[in-house]
Amino acid sequence: MALLWDTTLLLRKVKDLRCLTPRRHRVKEKWAATRPKLPPTRLAVHHFDATCGVQLGQLWPSVRVAMLAERKYGALLNNFSHNAVLAGLKAQGCIDFISEREKEVQPGLEQKSFEESSNVCVKSSDADREQLSLSPNIKCLVFPRSDVTRFKPARPDMNGLLGYYLMDAASLLPCLALDVQEGHTVLDLCAAPGGKTLALLQTQAIRFLCINDSSVSRTARLKRVLHSYVPKAFLTNEKLRITSFDGTKWGEIESNTFDRVLVDVPCTTDRHSVMEDDNNIFSKSRTGERRRLPQLQLELLLAGIQAACPGGEILYSTCALSQNQNLSVVEQAIYQAREKDGIHLQVVDLRPLTRMFRNTFHFAPDLHLGEMVIPHLTANFGPIYMCKLKRLT
Ligand code: SAM
Repeated sequence: MALLWDTTLLLRKVKDLRCLTPRRHRVKEKWAATRPKLPPTRLAVHHFDATCGVQLGQLWPSVRVAMLAERKYGALLNNFSHNAVLAGLKAQGCIDFISEREKEVQPGLEQKSFEESSNVCVKSSDADREQLSLSPNIKCLVFPRSDVTRFKPARPDMNGLLGYYLMDAASLLPCLALDVQEGHTVLDLCAAPGGKTLALLQTQAIRFLCINDSSVSRTARLKRVLHSYVPKAFLTNEKLRITSFDGTKWGEIESNTFDRVLVDVPCTTDRHSVMEDDNNIFSKSRTGERRRLPQLQLELLLAGIQAACPGGEILYSTCALSQNQNLSVVEQAIYQAREKDGIHLQVVDLRPLTRMFRNTFHFAPDLHLGEMVIPHLTANFGPIYMCKLKRLT
């Protein structure tokens, strides 16, 4: 009986002790369980260390440092605005990197054909090589190398149109490489928020521009951008169409149509991913979406190829360093376009373009397919990957 009494007392004491024990650790445990172990930016950096270290080799440490530092912008001049901003920006030390490009004798664009048997790109000695003629109407100002001065926000003119649009200057290269000519019909398949659309409009050469983005909210943002830069009369005329279709279905909607197609696909947006936790594709909840990107990119590129007319040209671009989103997607698209749709493509050599702009951007050496601007502390633009294809059939 005494033993039972002792045990009951003991148990009560233990219970009392439990009450006295601070519960903090339990609360803490719960809090710790719901908190992500690493923020998406850290996950992104780990991912890039594992993949880009292999891909870029010795270049990766300097690219990494640059990506984690403040990026540089370029000011795309808006020809629709009455604000004379060019002289002012030049007075601040800016250079129009397009008009002041390296003016060496242009050997012209070399054509590469995708060798059917070996799936390797080879240069063909095409006699009638095309010339890459850059539109004189696209002007973009940048501060010189190693100068990290920031641009002031653009101001509206008397009609409310802003004088320039701030963007990664390397993002203009896909627009220049697209080589829009007078009277062309152009499709911008993934257009929002509209930086490249705006650059294409600056050429003032396009007969018909179709602007598309599957995201309704991003299309609304694109429209707001256009309204800040382009006169209303221009936006409402029959030369322009803005849609929100799923771009992967474009080939079924409108095939063999456009002279030029820009396929600026959704990607891992590498610079954003290592710098911003908000809306970051490396967050755990978006792992599936991130893994599906190469397939979506492939479907968009194939749709863009189908939308181009025979003889038309397609420009594929990303702001990612990953081979899986860049070269592999292009290789797969060339193969599948031929096997499934009977469309033969030629890879257009963009080295003349990289030669022109080698004083402004750092380009990755020796890519066997396409070209890539890689970030560097002295010229902190990119990453931007681009590859140009010409439809032969
Ligand atoms: N070209 C734009 C610019 O210069 O401002 C940036 C385009 S951003 C890299 C990719 C865009 O693709 C996003 O706006 C996204 O909404 C859009 N997108 C994603 N999936 C799409 C699809 N299936 N069809 C069309 N657009 C899509």
